[in-house]
Amino acid sequence: MATGGGLLKTFGPYENLDIFDAQNLQMNDSYRASCNAVIDRLVKFLQNNVPIKVKEVVKGGSLGKGTAVRDKSDIDLVVFLSNYPTVRSVRADMHQLLATLEIYLRRYGGCNVLVPTPFSVQVNVSCHASHEHSVDILPACDVLGMHGQSAVYDEMFRSEDLRPYYSASLVKLQLNFVKVLPAKMTSLIRLVKYWRKSELPSDSGNGRWPTSYILELIVIRKWEDAGRPERFDLKRGLHSFLQALVNYRDLKVVWYQNYNRLYTQHSHLRGNTLWRGRGGEAKNTNLAPAPNTLATPLFVIQHY
Ligand SMILES: [Zn+2]
Repeated sequence: MATGGGLLKTFGPYENLDIFDAQNLQMNDSYRASCNAVIDRLVKFLQNNVPIKVKEVVKGGSLGKGTAVRDKSDIDLVVFLSNYPTVRSVRADMHQLLATLEIYLRRYGGCNVLVPTPFSVQVNVSCHASHEHSVDILPACDVLGMHGQSAVYDEMFRSEDLRPYYSASLVKLQLNFVKVLPAKMTSLIRLVKYWRKSELPSDSGNGRWPTSYILELIVIRKWEDAGRPERFDLKRGLHSFLQALVNYRDLKVVWYQNYNRLYTQHSHLRGNTLWRGRGGEAKNTNLAPAPNTLATPLFVIQHY
């Protein structure tokens, strides 16, 4: 295949990608327990030691979804606030919320606080054996619980400027979308993420390279097109994914589990929002359930 050189470089001499995944990427139980203990400590800190009213903290990102690569796991901690009725009200206070989180995390949180983004405070926390986690802490509110899905999508449809702020609040939909995948698929997603981090430039902010989450969605779509097999050859799965990437700018895929068909036809499919990188609608794409996505007809399907 055309990408054979890159693959060989990434996966070295491994003929069997199941073995590569088990030996290099997959977390064993004690490793995962150690990481979870560190993150649970941070969750408790957010719940008890910061002067904000927290209803619940939800773990997202690769650790939350079970697709974490051993040495490169990223974590989103979505802080659901109990005293905010709408995403609009969270956005109005976002600057203050992030400033408060930053101050307390920096002074008392025992972690290295990085520069805040418009949506989150980013920190690094140390783990066992010099392992480190990059954690995004995102204020949100339980809009689905309070208003229901239809009202949420009505508001998102009407208020384009609010859409990026909905991403964190809809994190549970994204988790549910990915968590139902069979073990073989989480292996393939780990391989793809490892390949991305090893082979592509780290900065996707210029929109040149899709984020890990977008690649994850492409893997899922290819698997769905192949009939959702429980088991398959990882090498063929990876090959099929890479073939899809060849024409990635022409991809359009929409999932309707969490989206009203009318809305997606009228908004998300108008332009190719997929590859804009972080910020704006792309941030929405990163965290939202499983939207939008990829463009036009799906290239030729290569079954696993
Ligand atoms: Zn760890």
